[in-house]
Amino acid sequence: MTKSQFTVHFWGVRGSIPTPGQSTIRYGGNTSCIEMRCHGKRLIFDAGTGIRVLGDHLLKEMPLEAYIFFTHTHWDHIQGFPFFTPAFVKGNTFHIHGKVSIAGDTIESCLSKQMLDPNFPVPLGIMGSTKHFYTLDFGETIDIGNGVTVETAKLNHPGDAMGYRVSWNQEVVVYATDTEHYPDRLDENLVHLARNADFLIMDCTYTDEEYWSKTSPKIGWGHSTWQEGVKVAKAAQVKHLVIFHHDPAHDDDFLDKVGEELQATFSNGMMAREGMVLAVAPTED
Ligand SMILES: [Zn+2]
Ligand SMILES: [Zn+2]
Repeated sequence: MTKSQFTVHFWGVRGSIPTPGQSTIRYGGNTSCIEMRCHGKRLIFDAGTGIRVLGDHLLKEMPLEAYIFFTHTHWDHIQGFPFFTPAFVKGNTFHIHGKVSIAGDTIESCLSKQMLDPNFPVPLGIMGSTKHFYTLDFGETIDIGNGVTVETAKLNHPGDAMGYRVSWNQEVVVYATDTEHYPDRLDENLVHLARNADFLIMDCTYTDEEYWSKTSPKIGWGHSTWQEGVKVAKAAQVKHLVIFHHDPAHDDDFLDKVGEELQATFSNGMMAREGMVLAVAPTED
């Protein structure tokens, strides 16, 4: 049996809004949430509705200590947090990281505001876990212990978003959502963040055809295309590209087709699916 000291679990891979239903069963309908288990550390990226499902699994592993990183605070990245059951349980500890919003709100303030009346019945303060909040700047690298480091970069998104590069023992996973490519050049911040990564998980919401559509273009909406993802993956010489933040309008059959075209262009490309687990640094048991 293969046991890895660095794994990536996909709990929510959908962008913008949850999409439950028969046509999205295979890729999943929950919004962004990724868990990385890395050399004894547990890292969680974003708290879309996928974090509710993760929380239910974690109830068996309490008391918990986890490091939560937010890319930004658009709904699809925070809306699951009030339903993350372990956060309500005394004895659990969460180190919560995020950037300051353009308006000057810290991540603590943003999470608090979404739970205030009339948006939610109970406030953030009712959560019984111990929560430490940290503000991150673009370009910063932090060490969370056990040799695990997390580097940040600015992504191109309305109100900005923060990309993350997680490194341990020469193994690297990059989580880059939400972000839009530039029309005339590659995003240097993103290419630098993703350099030589084992896995680049990237916002590739659209196809080029949709992005440049004459009737309904997506230019300036803050998201990239899978074809642009391939360009970044090649420029940064990443080993694997994971297509992430699927458009709510893309059903399973559509995503199958994207996956086939991706494979033909970049053989180490793959589509993110809810429930998927990647082993970054496998070691034989
Ligand atoms: Zn999003
Ligand atoms: Zn966003």
